[in-house]
Amino acid sequence: MAWDFSTEPEFQEKLDWIRDFVDNTIIPLDLLCEGLDQAQLDELWAPLKYEVKKQGLWAPHLGPEDGGQGMGQMSLALIHEILGRHSLAPEIFGCQGPDSGNAELLAVGATEEQRERWLYPLIRGDVRSTFSMTEPFTASSDPTEMKTRARRDGDEWVINGHKWFASNASVSDFTLLFCITDPEAPPHQRASMIVVPRGTPGMTVVRDVGSMAHPHTAEPGQLFDRIGGHSEVLYEDCRVPLDHIIGAPGEGFLLSQKRLGGGRIHHAMRCIGQAQYAFEMMCERAVSRTTKGKPLGKMQMVQDMIAISYTELETARLIVLRAAWTMDQRGDHGSKSRTEISMIKYHVPKLTLDIIDRAIQIHGALGYTTDMPLEQMYRQGRALRIADGADEVHKQAMARQVLKDVQPVEGWPSEHLPTRRAAAQQRFGAQVDAVRARR
Ligand SMILES: Cc1cc2nc3c(=O)[nH]c(=O)nc-3n(C[C@H](O)[C@H](O)[C@H](O)COP(=O)(O)OP(=O)(O)OC[C@H]3O[C@@H](n4cnc5c(N)ncnc54)[C@H](O)[C@@H]3O)c2cc1C
Repeated sequence: MAWDFSTEPEFQEKLDWIRDFVDNTIIPLDLLCEGLDQAQLDELWAPLKYEVKKQGLWAPHLGPEDGGQGMGQMSLALIHEILGRHSLAPEIFGCQGPDSGNAELLAVGATEEQRERWLYPLIRGDVRSTFSMTEPFTASSDPTEMKTRARRDGDEWVINGHKWFASNASVSDFTLLFCITDPEAPPHQRASMIVVPRGTPGMTVVRDVGSMAHPHTAEPGQLFDRIGGHSEVLYEDCRVPLDHIIGAPGEGFLLSQKRLGGGRIHHAMRCIGQAQYAFEMMCERAVSRTTKGKPLGKMQMVQDMIAISYTELETARLIVLRAAWTMDQRGDHGSKSRTEISMIKYHVPKLTLDIIDRAIQIHGALGYTTDMPLEQMYRQGRALRIADGADEVHKQAMARQVLKDVQPVEGWPSEHLPTRRAAAQQRFGAQVDAVRARR
């Protein structure tokens, strides 16, 4: 089937509106918001969100039955490339992680009562949510090893465990907790997804961990009072009613897969937005700054950086669009497009960091300062080589898929190596020898 990446004129108009809104409203407003708390930020963001809703662009990742726009992955990819220009933009469009992935999970697994309680308020932007899988003392690249446990006691789940990197847990209204409910079951049927509302006794947000994106020391009890914190959370005999489980017990892995496919495409496309923004700054600098009497862009080594960056940007965009297109064709939340999704998940963040790095280089000392957004883009971008699955895990998954249908060479290993030449000889040898002999 031929790929078709063209856009309808009406959709292009929407993309143009989004680009203008991100560049001329969201980016300049956010420049002045340093130090404000979440309540102050929410006040400033509310009219922007209202404007996005008025344009019919709110929560574009969800189907219309869930209050979204029902767009395919291709259209979403094009939107997310623009939203990627600034980290605040997805929030203003109602499609920021982890809320967007959590909404997708609830849309698939929640009962009508649970949807009323958690999904619809989340989609409207009235509440915030957290997804919590990662643990400080188990390698979370393999969640079958998780230790956090929910035990059934009468009509309640009793939760004990230790999590961290639960993004936004210090300001969110509920957590989707991925935890073990049946340690004896086969590895991928051991875990479930349980909702823990904010303030449930026995759940303690210990601190928001300092990180490359927020480089403060975070002592126990120190919480950011805004979204963007990665929280360490303790569960000590924390009790929630049985009806807080999403899906059936043991369906945690199944549900977690549903939340990741689209999200990874959107992450990758937002990376491209970052890379594009860095590339634009790199080019502006190359034609504006002069040395030895000519613009930097006339220097061959600078040209090399620009040529490589442009090639990487365009190839990255192409493979992400192809992955989005593949998901649209095959459906099923990406479970049939795992190779394509793993490929972009590991490849695009790395390319983006390389492009931002070159943009910093071409800006010299200025690139290293907070007068330009590049240093912040680099620090924030680094997370994506780890979050949502480390590069190595995706490479491994991808190679596994690629090798799945490759057949071993018959008779290998053997004293008579079945080389390609030997096979050709067997098939065409006599014919070629006959022609050779006639000469
Ligand atoms: C900014 C940010 C936000 C995050 N937000 C959330 C969140 O909201 N909720 C949540 O639950 N988690 C979140 N995480 C955590 C993230 O999902 C985990 O860090 C990730 O799954 C890796 O788990 P780990 O840190 O335990 O690393 P480990 O599993 O200990 O792995 C460490 C390293 O070992 C290597 N490695 C691991 N497995 C393999 C393998 N099979 N083959 C080869 N090499 C391997 C990789 O290089 C990997 O980086 C976030 C992380 C970051 C950085």
